[in-house]
Amino acid sequence: MTVQREAREEKRIIGEIGPVDSECVFVCVGGLHGNEPAGVRAIESLFEKLDPLRDQLSSRIIGLRGNIGALEANLRYLDTDLNRSWKEPQDSPESCREEQEKAAIQAIILPLLAEKKKVFLADLHTTSSESTPFLWDQCVKKILPEDTPVPILRDDVERLTGTMACYFSSLGVPVICAEGGSHYSPASARHLEDIVWLGLRAAGALPELEIIEEAEGRLRAVTEEVPGLLHIFHHHMISPEDRFQMEPGFKNFDPLKKGTLIAHDQNGEIRAPQDCFLLLPLYQPQGDDGFLLASAEERRS
Ligand SMILES: [Zn+2]
Repeated sequence: MTVQREAREEKRIIGEIGPVDSECVFVCVGGLHGNEPAGVRAIESLFEKLDPLRDQLSSRIIGLRGNIGALEANLRYLDTDLNRSWKEPQDSPESCREEQEKAAIQAIILPLLAEKKKVFLADLHTTSSESTPFLWDQCVKKILPEDTPVPILRDDVERLTGTMACYFSSLGVPVICAEGGSHYSPASARHLEDIVWLGLRAAGALPELEIIEEAEGRLRAVTEEVPGLLHIFHHHMISPEDRFQMEPGFKNFDPLKKGTLIAHDQNGEIRAPQDCFLLLPLYQPQGDDGFLLASAEERRS
């Protein structure tokens, strides 16, 4: 490892707290996408609040920065998307900077699994559009129960291959894959931190505490207007030559009537094929999803 890389690795760990010999380790990762620093801020704030609770912790809790190089550059990624890189065999060269970030994260988590620790993983993201917080349901093992007051996005299209959460889930790790809101909203870090508090409770890392009930109440209040469970039925994938341009003003979870104009590309207008919900409208230069469409499955009480 070069001196430069060692210096960077010192920044990897945001915090570590709880009994070192605990059988359970709860790992939080923020900033796997470098333009999403809210996840890092959420973990920093979490550790400040965990400090006076350290005697009540029954699990080890570790907070990590995901893509350090991209966080410093404030870019989604430098060479390739770090949250699409977790597949075998590798299709990126070793010189790829995200491969090095990935190897550094693996070097922290895989030894815990080798030691037969019970590992939990929370992966914290934000979106380029305005959004209420939500959870991705793309992995087999989940930490949070279905009645958690945060909308769940179910994705059977399975376009999202190579995500870190799915990789660790395939190794038996229960995960939370959370989006806290817009990259630019000051509330996003708050939402992500609140979701992690619920995760810590569900993983048995902490007893029931007022701080967790408050987190749950805040999440319930901000997600009231959105269906509890949405099912993605369409991914609009894009490439630079499409000259894709989203219509302005959409937010995540906006309900669309059949025929609503969503975007333009080199072939003309793109309209909603049916009544549905618009998800992840793209308002940033990097990314290969223009938008997703979903139907509501049910509304939780
Ligand atoms: Zn992200």
